[in-house]
Amino acid sequence: MQKTIAVIRGDGIGPEIVDQALLVLDRISGLYGHEFTYIDVDMGGCAIDKYGDPLPEEMLQKCLAADSVLLGAVGGPKWNQVPGPMRPEKGLLRLRAGMEVYSNNRPAKIWPQLASASPLKPQIVEKGIDFLIVRELTGGIYFGRHDTFTEDGRTVAVDELRYSEDEIRRIGRIGFETARKRGGKLCSVEKSNVLDSSRLWKKVMHELADEYPDVVLTDMLVDNCAMQIVKDPGQFDVIVTENMFGDILSDEASMITGSIGMIPSSSLGDTSRGLYEPIHGSAPDIAGKDLANPIGTILAAAMMLRYSFDMAAEADCVESAVSAALDQGFRTGDILPPNSDGLTLVGCREMGRRIIENMKKG
Ligand code: NAD
Repeated sequence: MQKTIAVIRGDGIGPEIVDQALLVLDRISGLYGHEFTYIDVDMGGCAIDKYGDPLPEEMLQKCLAADSVLLGAVGGPKWNQVPGPMRPEKGLLRLRAGMEVYSNNRPAKIWPQLASASPLKPQIVEKGIDFLIVRELTGGIYFGRHDTFTEDGRTVAVDELRYSEDEIRRIGRIGFETARKRGGKLCSVEKSNVLDSSRLWKKVMHELADEYPDVVLTDMLVDNCAMQIVKDPGQFDVIVTENMFGDILSDEASMITGSIGMIPSSSLGDTSRGLYEPIHGSAPDIAGKDLANPIGTILAAAMMLRYSFDMAAEADCVESAVSAALDQGFRTGDILPPNSDGLTLVGCREMGRRIIENMKKG
């Protein structure tokens, strides 16, 4: 298969971690006979330095012309004084808007080799944690009417939580499709005992369920879900939820896995083209020192293979190789525990090399 990938290295550790992910993709093309073409895109601080704009229109068009987009990270102290609309993060917001992605998907997975890094009790972690949160990204309370006014001599603030049935249906479809590509279980999270928007959410999810007889749909109230994520996270496969609930639950879920350097994410819209990136930032404190953990970005590339290119075997190959390198005891500094007996501290490049060494066609 032939695919074009827009590659945004970005700032800080971005170039180092993206380079390792590209080497992994090169190995996939060698093993499975695909052809990946990489198109370089400048975004973030580096684009401000070159063009005075964090995402020039020409760069956005390159992303829109590609089959998918791989991003390292943007931003850093060098651009902290840049005025609001020209900040590196604005480039990312404009990219998301331009790509019309409305779904953010974040896996929460505990690698058994890193179980001790989880703040959860070993008996909970031992049961296995591997789920994914599909969060609606462009609607709900963050995009409703915001108002602060005076009423009866007091200051009052209002934030409107609004969803239309088509907004719910399109994110619901991503939830069902994702569950289909994973374990076939979808948990819809809402607050239907209190909120009208949640009652509509639940109704639409159940209408959609008829179209996906191979997926088991369950409902859960958001407060219960927050508890279940720490009490019994092994029960979940895919969670689908609205913007604010997803914002909070996905941060809770990433905490239980232990390390920020290991977690990828994707943002999807109506087409198969997605934006794939690690969840961490540009880590300016360790940039250029070959200290960064490239695994979050490598796993983001694996997500791209699975969800945008329908290459499940290839994605499995990457994920198994990450697991094998961890089994062999290789650790970057961020995932090296205080008692590191039997483990080998490696840098960004060496971690990438060890993962590639373990890649075999399944
Ligand atoms: P950060 O995620 O960059 O770093 C937080 C801590 O985690 C740092 O100590 C860092 O060294 C460590 N860390 C992060 N990724 C790591 C990795 N792969 N390997 C090893 N250690 C890693 O968050 P921050 O310091 O708050 O932000 C730094 C810059 O990144 C800021 O300019 C921020 O705006 C930007 N940012 C960008 C994105 C993005 O591009 N999507 C996301 C978050 C933050």
